[in-house]
Amino acid sequence: MNNALLDQVAGTVDRQRLIDTAVALVEVPSPTRSAGAVADRLAEILTADGFPVQRHDADWPKAPIVMAALDSGRPGPTLQFDGHLDTVHLPFVPPRVEDDTLYGSSSADMKGGIAAALEALRVLRTLDALPAGRVLLTAHDHHEGPWGDGRQVRAMIREGLVGDAVLLPEYLAEPLPVAGRGVGIFQATIRREGTPVHEVLRPSGTPDVLVAGAQLVNRLHGWNESLKEKAHPLAGHDSTFVGKLQSGEIYNQSPTECIVQGTRRWVPPSSGKAVQEEFSQMLAEVATATGTDIDLEFTVQGNAYQIDSGNSLVAAFQKAHRALIGSPLPIGAKPFVDDGNTFASEAGIPALTHGPAATGAHTLNEAVPVDELVRVAELYALTAVEFCGGP
Ligand SMILES: [Zn+2]
Repeated sequence: MNNALLDQVAGTVDRQRLIDTAVALVEVPSPTRSAGAVADRLAEILTADGFPVQRHDADWPKAPIVMAALDSGRPGPTLQFDGHLDTVHLPFVPPRVEDDTLYGSSSADMKGGIAAALEALRVLRTLDALPAGRVLLTAHDHHEGPWGDGRQVRAMIREGLVGDAVLLPEYLAEPLPVAGRGVGIFQATIRREGTPVHEVLRPSGTPDVLVAGAQLVNRLHGWNESLKEKAHPLAGHDSTFVGKLQSGEIYNQSPTECIVQGTRRWVPPSSGKAVQEEFSQMLAEVATATGTDIDLEFTVQGNAYQIDSGNSLVAAFQKAHRALIGSPLPIGAKPFVDDGNTFASEAGIPALTHGPAATGAHTLNEAVPVDELVRVAELYALTAVEFCGGP
């Protein structure tokens, strides 16, 4: 990568314009499933910038996805920048810039990152720097669980609204994740026949849903130990965790229902489907042993994935990172699940999550340093030049 391009990109990123874009997005509240207004705002910004914008319902007409492309006019691969505009359901904190840091709801997760990706698109256009191919910017709703179910990303994949590779500017600056665990949220509802009854009036042999719940929790606890053997060199190991156990009304009444909720995480190459089947089997054994019925709700939030660390997206990213920072980013795993899991496991395209070193995601104290937004804008522009015009 030549130094002239590096200087041109650094000189073209407009710090104030980037801040203004991020603030304009953050100031529109957008809890998951209600991101329509901020999607409209993003579309307005792109249109005012002169980018042709497409909107697609993508299975959620209340907030059609926003899609804009920068086309070099020459044949080549498409690099996608993708972000979610929705936020977790917490009280809204308005944006403010203080000490060169942007604060406010979704500044970290992840409208700051989306603004940086958009700034990269502007820079690429101003410099006419794309040697070939095109860059696609997409933004959508329905990301944050448990409110969202990922339907818009799946619809984008189904409808072919994806690139040949995708960068996601979530709040992870290090390492560069090439693998990640899948996660399913489970709810086991344990029931017995009959109605709640005083303990001394129970017919003999009445199944005890509390005992069944306790057995299930114990069994999951033991299973978690043995799941550690299912390990992956980067992604860690399988696990299961119980976060909620709920039953009973008063101390001497036999209840009819007990609920156990938690997570089950797995490393590649296991699939969510296989994990769910194994989980169902285990519940059936507990049900038989305790004379209860157990219903399972199992929601796959994201599948496990691994991308080839020798693929052209990783190579382009590392070349750009070396040019900008002086060294490649250490390779590692993604600690959380994001839409990259879906792009990689369901669309089969390389997906890299990399964004600003921001803090406070899923809290009332989100913050992102402006320097980090600038760094991500430069890095995304340089990666696009490498990826789209690569060897
Ligand atoms: Zn996020």
